[in-house]
Amino acid sequence: MLDGQKLTSLKCRMKKNEIITFDFDDTLFSLAEEKVGSLWTASDVLAPIQQIHDMLFQKHSEGYTIGVVTAREMWNFPQVEEYIKDHKLPVSHVRCSNGGSKVDILKELDTTLHIDDLLSVVVEASAAGISCMLVDDGRHAQNKEAHKFERIFVNNR
Ligand SMILES: [Mg+2]
Repeated sequence: MLDGQKLTSLKCRMKKNEIITFDFDDTLFSLAEEKVGSLWTASDVLAPIQQIHDMLFQKHSEGYTIGVVTAREMWNFPQVEEYIKDHKLPVSHVRCSNGGSKVDILKELDTTLHIDDLLSVVVEASAAGISCMLVDDGRHAQNKEAHKFERIFVNNR
């Protein structure tokens, strides 16, 4: 009989080579809104999306390696690293696709699951055989195409 601790450590070893990847913008955070006069506008404050942070920590505790794959360009890269550091996210790989497709990077990393808020990314990656989940903050509620994919419903407003 395996006790809980041994079982957890066994699970960790089994998954140590498996990676789960997360998009950055509007997946790990959204821009907080602030009131300017009587209008609400997006601020430059990166507000964590708690459900996705929780999922990231959960998957890491299950033994998965965690990656961030963003379409940001290289000049915009330090903000990604700063965010990961500020929130103590257990991320081992950060990759930028420089505005291009993420598929080659996701294949190279051999990701087990990619989590992204952009339907076009999920459609393209799924067509390339990559398992994906779509982050839905309500934007995809009326989109039938989006409903073909497994969605994570988040409340980031
Ligand atoms: Mg995004």
